[in-house]
Amino acid sequence: MPNCILRYCKNYSKRTTKYSNGVTFHKFPRPGHEKREQWIKFVQTNRSEDTWLPSDHTCICSEHFREEDFYLTKTGRRYLTKSAVPFEKLSSEDNQHNISSTSFLNVEVSDSESIFDTPIQIQLKKDLRKNIAAKKKLLETNVKLRRQCRYLKLKNQQLTDIIKNLKSKIVKLESVIDNENKLSQDAAVVEKK
Ligand SMILES: [Zn+2]
Repeated sequence: MPNCILRYCKNYSKRTTKYSNGVTFHKFPRPGHEKREQWIKFVQTNRSEDTWLPSDHTCICSEHFREEDFYLTKTGRRYLTKSAVPFEKLSSEDNQHNISSTSFLNVEVSDSESIFDTPIQIQLKKDLRKNIAAKKKLLETNVKLRRQCRYLKLKNQQLTDIIKNLKSKIVKLESVIDNENKLSQDAAVVEKK
C-alpha cells in the first residue's frame, strides 16, 4: 500500500483508490536517471532531513507534480514523463481553500444549548451547526471533483490527440483512393482506344 513520502501529505493508496479521486503514486527514477538527484533533494528539503534516501518502494503522489508532467497510456494508466520533478505548491487553490474552510469551521458552536439561550438562539445555533457540516462536506466534494477534473482533462487531451492522428490517416487514405481511381480511369480510357 503506497503512501506519499512528503511531510504534511496524507495521501495513501487505500484512501485514494486508483483514479477514484485522481491521485496516483509514483516511484523514484532509477539510480543513474538524470532527475533522481532532484527528486531526492526535494524530499530532503521537504522533510528537513539532509541524509534522507528513498527505498525501491518510496512514492510521491501526483499532487506534487504539474499537469504537463503526466501522460496516459493506451490502457488509461497515468505515468510521469522522464523530465518530471516534484515541486512545492506555494499558494495552490487547494491550500487557499483549506485556510478559508478551517477558519469557517473553527467557529465555536457549543454542542449543547445553554439554559440562557432564547428559543430563537437555540434554533440559530442548530442551523449554524447544520450549515457548518454541510459546508465541510461540500468543500471535500469540491477538492475531490477538482482532482477528477484534472484527470479527465488529461484523458480528454489524449483522446483529442488520437482523433487528430486518425483524421490525418483518413486524409492520407483518401488521397491514396483518389489516386487509384484516377489510375483505373486512365487505364479504362487507354483500353477503349
Ligand atoms: Zn503527496
